[in-house]
Amino acid sequence: MSDHRKPPAPDPHDFLAVDSDLSDTERDVRDAVRTFARRELLPNVADWFEAGTLPDPRGLAKAFGDLGVLGMHLEGYGCGGSGAVAYGLACRELEAVDSGLRSFVSVQGSLAMAAIHKFGSEEQKGEWLPRMAAGEAIGCFGLTEPDSGSDPGSMRTRARRDGSDWVLDGTKMWITNGSVADVAVVWAATDEGIRGFVVPAGTPGFSANTVHKKLSLRASITSELVLEGVRLPADAVLPGSRGLGSPLSCLNEARYGIVWGAAGAARACYEAALEYALSREQFGRPIAGFQLTQRKLADMVVDVNHAGMTALRIGRLKDEGRAHHNHVSFGKFANVAAAQRVAAAARSVHGANGITLEYPVMRHMVNLETVATYEGTEEIHALSIGQAVTGVSAFR
Ligand SMILES: Cc1cc2nc3c(=O)[nH]c(=O)nc-3n(C[C@H](O)[C@H](O)[C@H](O)COP(=O)(O)OP(=O)(O)OC[C@H]3O[C@@H](n4cnc5c(N)ncnc54)[C@H](O)[C@@H]3O)c2cc1C
Repeated sequence: MSDHRKPPAPDPHDFLAVDSDLSDTERDVRDAVRTFARRELLPNVADWFEAGTLPDPRGLAKAFGDLGVLGMHLEGYGCGGSGAVAYGLACRELEAVDSGLRSFVSVQGSLAMAAIHKFGSEEQKGEWLPRMAAGEAIGCFGLTEPDSGSDPGSMRTRARRDGSDWVLDGTKMWITNGSVADVAVVWAATDEGIRGFVVPAGTPGFSANTVHKKLSLRASITSELVLEGVRLPADAVLPGSRGLGSPLSCLNEARYGIVWGAAGAARACYEAALEYALSREQFGRPIAGFQLTQRKLADMVVDVNHAGMTALRIGRLKDEGRAHHNHVSFGKFANVAAAQRVAAAARSVHGANGITLEYPVMRHMVNLETVATYEGTEEIHALSIGQAVTGVSAFR
């Protein structure tokens, strides 16, 4: 029997009805984070971006903790134990406001907390994870160095044994939340390969300097970490960490959040462009009525929905335990590029207004420069996908 009822017209805000595939629990997470983000973050984010900092990172951490998004996908130790799709939706709704705010949550939950959760001792987990989940302690993750970015295996930070102690020397660069962190997870080369260390702020020899003059991710604190003869007890090492694969597995968790986050930034830019195009009049009619504008909106809505479907597909694979790191590379590569295209087109639809902080589009556009760079640059993910499909590595 064929059904002759006319299907409903697509919703311009969810054209392919991707969100109709969410469970009730996932929809509840989406709505809770969206409401919080629109009420508490959106009204302030342009000012934070213009100031080039987060004025109250501790208050923000506490608010994220109360919302339940810090380490929400981790099990136990005060963490939420949510599914991967639910966590992704939280990232999407936060990044629809600003990539810097999603970065705060990603670095805390998927890098610093995930490293302690995966590789830490029971004592380390018990000491740090409940406080970090509640937003009472801020964590950072120090892998990148001034001379070691895409190739972290070339790091110069060293940890050497001195009796039962460890002594760390080196410099980490571009570390999100470094200068406001209570604890840094620092990766260092040892005689046993690369290992992770839990470094509480205030340890003698450890200092952090904020990076200024950024033109991207301005509503986020970025820092240099300096380690000069930092002496740590034997139990500061993450006992389960062994080799470069350990930090890379954390990065894979965080870049999963980027897959969703980029879809959120893209959606925000498209929605701003649609609203602007319908209300802005030139030549006696809304600019939405011009074919060239409609072409931009059509390209945008396709990119936004492709990104949403990609995120949901990878999220479902992850919830089934089937997400390979190459799937996550695919998602980061595809969705960040899509978001960059959407942001650039949305900015042009806004004309001169598009270059101001009165509208979100250029803020997203410049943030996406960072998102395309960190946690594996666009080129590095292209090489991962290239290796996955050809079986041939072109990394070196
Ligand atoms: C705002 C911000 C926040 C950050 N937060 C953190 C953090 O919290 N913790 C942390 O550890 N790091 C962080 N990073 C660092 C980030 O992960 C690195 O910037 C990134 O890994 C790239 O390294 P790089 O900047 O040294 O670039 P490089 O590795 O020097 O790359 C420069 C260019 O060369 C290209 N390239 C490199 N190798 C190849 C190759 N084999 N083939 C083709 N092209 C290649 C790159 O794709 C890029 O285009 C952050 C960065 C920014 C901007």
